[in-house]
Amino acid sequence: MKIIKNPKELKIYLKKMPQSIGFVPTMGALHEGHISLIQKAKKENEFIVVSIFVNPTQFAKNEDLSKYPNDTLRDEKICEMSGVDVLFYPDAKDIYGEDEVSVLAPNVRGFVLEGYTRPSHFNGVLTVVMKLFNIVKPDRAYFGKKDAQQLHLIQLMVKQLFMDVSIIPVDTMRESDGLAMSSRNVYLSKIQREQSLKISSSLNLARGLISKNIYDAKKIKQQMRQYLEPLEVYYVEVLDREFHTIDSVEIGNTLILVEVKVGDTRLLDNIWL
Ligand code: AMP
Repeated sequence: MKIIKNPKELKIYLKKMPQSIGFVPTMGALHEGHISLIQKAKKENEFIVVSIFVNPTQFAKNEDLSKYPNDTLRDEKICEMSGVDVLFYPDAKDIYGEDEVSVLAPNVRGFVLEGYTRPSHFNGVLTVVMKLFNIVKPDRAYFGKKDAQQLHLIQLMVKQLFMDVSIIPVDTMRESDGLAMSSRNVYLSKIQREQSLKISSSLNLARGLISKNIYDAKKIKQQMRQYLEPLEVYYVEVLDREFHTIDSVEIGNTLILVEVKVGDTRLLDNIWL
């Protein structure tokens, strides 16, 4: 595996590659969720690029980016063992300059849910993904369904800006007790780890209601919120796959999304119905 830090060097290196390129962008602190993205990319492409970049522009001013978990050597080993061809590890100064051009998230879908409490978040995400795509020029790029809004906005960007890359969604990997894997789970104390189980169970509760033919979004949201008490809930939403609010679950075209705060940690999860 080759490790490249400089964007220009990576561009030159990849220009020589005749093969199809699969790309997995990450912020590091890799876990099995990330590995599942790499494995899917390996099945569908001849050459795999993984990036590790803790993108400063997607963090709000009050969020401490320097505290984001990182373990460079461990991440390198995981990539090597997963059969990654190039690990791209840029410095922020090589990605961003002064007085920058940036991508703007759509006015509605970029500023609800995650974007409601973190209004600059998706501008930062879309801008860095655009930069990374322009550096790597992948045929296919892999994103987790766990970050459903991020996935949707990237799909929108690619479609609306007529970009030449296929966005491939990947199912959420979970711990054996149901908690969605996340780099942020390391922040949880033992008690918080137990409390966080309510997130996936609240989604199971929604599934249970739907299996009893309760499709009313208001009822489902109410019961989930009640179940999630006393956790601080950022949102519980029932949306269609285009991220529009719906009154009633429609199987095949519905997402139920939840985000809560456990201690100081934001944890999100969702189900695709
Ligand atoms: P992150 O490093 O958290 O920015 O995540 C990098 C990519 O991995 C994103 O596309 C995430 O949606 C995806 N991802 C994170 N956690 C999981 C998980 N538990 N299962 C599948 N994909 C995940």
